Amino acid sequence: MEIFDYMGKKGYEQLAMYSDAAVGLKAIIAIHDTTLGPACGGTRIWNYETDEEAIWDALRLARAMTYKAAAADLPLGGGKAVIIADSRTQKTEAMMRAFGRFVDTLGGRFLATTDVGSTGRDMEYIRQETKHVVGLPTSAGGSGDTSIMTGLGVYMGLKACAREVWGSDSLNGKKIAIQGFGKVAFQYAHHLLKEDAHLVVTDVFDDALDRARDMGIEVVEPEQIYDVACDIFSPCALGGSLNKNTIPRLQARVVAGGANNQLETEEDGEELKRRGILYAPDYLINSGGIINLSAEIGSAYNRDLAREKTERIYELMGRVIQVSRQEEISTARAADRIAEERLASVRAIKTLYRPR
Ligand code: NAD
Repeated sequence: MEIFDYMGKKGYEQLAMYSDAAVGLKAIIAIHDTTLGPACGGTRIWNYETDEEAIWDALRLARAMTYKAAAADLPLGGGKAVIIADSRTQKTEAMMRAFGRFVDTLGGRFLATTDVGSTGRDMEYIRQETKHVVGLPTSAGGSGDTSIMTGLGVYMGLKACAREVWGSDSLNGKKIAIQGFGKVAFQYAHHLLKEDAHLVVTDVFDDALDRARDMGIEVVEPEQIYDVACDIFSPCALGGSLNKNTIPRLQARVVAGGANNQLETEEDGEELKRRGILYAPDYLINSGGIINLSAEIGSAYNRDLAREKTERIYELMGRVIQVSRQEEISTARAADRIAEERLASVRAIKTLYRPR
């Protein structure tokens, strides 16, 4: 599909490109929707094979951010930046500062933050050139490591699911199979262990598995995780792990985890519903990270406020379950609907009160 056709159909506002050959910067910022506030999104630094691939990735990821911010009740829109480069060998201070100047040209319509390939240190470089950046390290007055709140949010979302399925939000004695034991899963596991849940984890890296063993957690091979007899399956690795091949193997009654884009296709959300498995929409329960970042905007970062807002994922998940039940739709669709309704209502008010 042509880019303008796609942008028009899916409601994109802007696609900006910036080049600074002197520092090797090739950057793209996609802004999907700013109805609720400035578009906030990560800066993905990736060695895309073609410019086109980078543009489509920026567009796709920007739209997902609109839904995430809208469903999490944040005053933020959706956007995404991508830089075409190898973050390990080509990223420099000069490149990040040039990118900061690009962000500044958008006058606050886009707030940059970290993503695959970019770090809190990079945000500090960007901050030298623009104030429109969040996700700075705590040493620079920022909100620091997002995985702490993401892990808390996933835990709160899971508790809301447990209340629906077992009549109590206690996770005591529940068997939880966790796929991927990285930063988010590590934080999340601490909350689960405090409730005496029984964890089984897998990862593709031995150091991650050793970390799990040190915490007294049972580990299995990556392919075995789908077949673990458990109450809850928790994808915390990469996207696409819920699909037509893996869903029939699941024995859990709840699927809730931190990974982005867990469902390979929309149909997989419907399939989980058909099988009576309660699915916690990924972008809703993993929104603790962006909630944490939002607590950096406009005033000094306040960790207690970020924590309080992240804990509200429990109520948000409860609302998704309620809408899914009332409308007889999947929870994935219910979360989208809540986000779309919020966007539509704010858009309507803005249109009504637009200065003439
Ligand atoms: P991470 O890289 O620290 O952890 C991911 C772990 O998954 C790694 O240990 C990796 O080895 C493992 N893994 C990869 N493929 C695997 C496979 N096939 N089987 C088993 N393990 C596998 O990343 P993270 O920050 O913990 O993020 C995890 C997921 O959560 C990602 O999908 C990310 O996009 C999403 N997410 C993270 C945050 C955050 O605040 N960090 C916020 C929202 C969403």
